[in-house]
Amino acid sequence: MMSRRKMLYEGKAKILYEGPEPGTVVAYFKDDATAFNAQKKAVLEGKGVLNNRISEFVMENLGRMGIPTHFIKRLNMREQLLREVEIIPLEVVVRNVAAGSIAKRFGLTEGDALPRSIVEFYYKNDALEDPMVAEEHITAFNWATTQDMDEMIAMALRVNDYLSGMFMAVGIRLIDFKLEFGRVYDQNDMPRVILADEISPDSCRLWDANTNEKLDKDRFRRDLGNVTEAYAEVARRLGIMKENGSVTEEGSPE
Ligand code: 5GP
Repeated sequence: MMSRRKMLYEGKAKILYEGPEPGTVVAYFKDDATAFNAQKKAVLEGKGVLNNRISEFVMENLGRMGIPTHFIKRLNMREQLLREVEIIPLEVVVRNVAAGSIAKRFGLTEGDALPRSIVEFYYKNDALEDPMVAEEHITAFNWATTQDMDEMIAMALRVNDYLSGMFMAVGIRLIDFKLEFGRVYDQNDMPRVILADEISPDSCRLWDANTNEKLDKDRFRRDLGNVTEAYAEVARRLGIMKENGSVTEEGSPE
């Protein structure tokens, strides 16, 4: 089924195929893991299945909260049907606790709470290693308008509030995460910004609330081991996985 679809784009962790109807695309979640701008690579068996399920769960909940997303439905263990969007070439990062690049950039101690949630923008460009950008660059180079930026910031903060609570309820601290947005057009050709891409342990920092154990992609970046086990633990706590460790599957298989 998958092989008959026309491939539109192959990314590091997902492949996009033409969807069954105009205005839709199918995302296939690979097991490939990359870090440090794809200098570090591995295949983590089962990661794609877990991220497909975790992202479905998160996007559906955000949709119920009134946050517009590209998610339509999960098709099977590795694929989801999405609304086609015009990609905005930005990564929007929300941070609650110092970690990763902000700790490095400003000499902060990883794990220190930030004075408030901070929203940052990065230009999505592998060759340039996703440089951080300011509003000046974003509007001057026409990546997004000031209004788009206001909408992205407002949505990112709502996502942060919702996800922080959702994860805290299952003993996980949401340290930071990355979002991507896309543009869609309504019947009157009016543009609107909606949440796109995925939200999973690949794109979030998630720490156990009691032990500070990392349950996210930093396990891969920092060679901590048990990467998929950590993703599975996140899925299990969110109630996505059965107690026996298998991913619950009520959808139709390929
Ligand atoms: P940092 O800027 O500290 O490296 O990353 C901040 C947050 O955004 C982390 O949760 C990290 O996983 C996520 N993030 C930043 N850039 C990327 C990226 O290119 N891909 C993915 N999957 N996540 C990213």
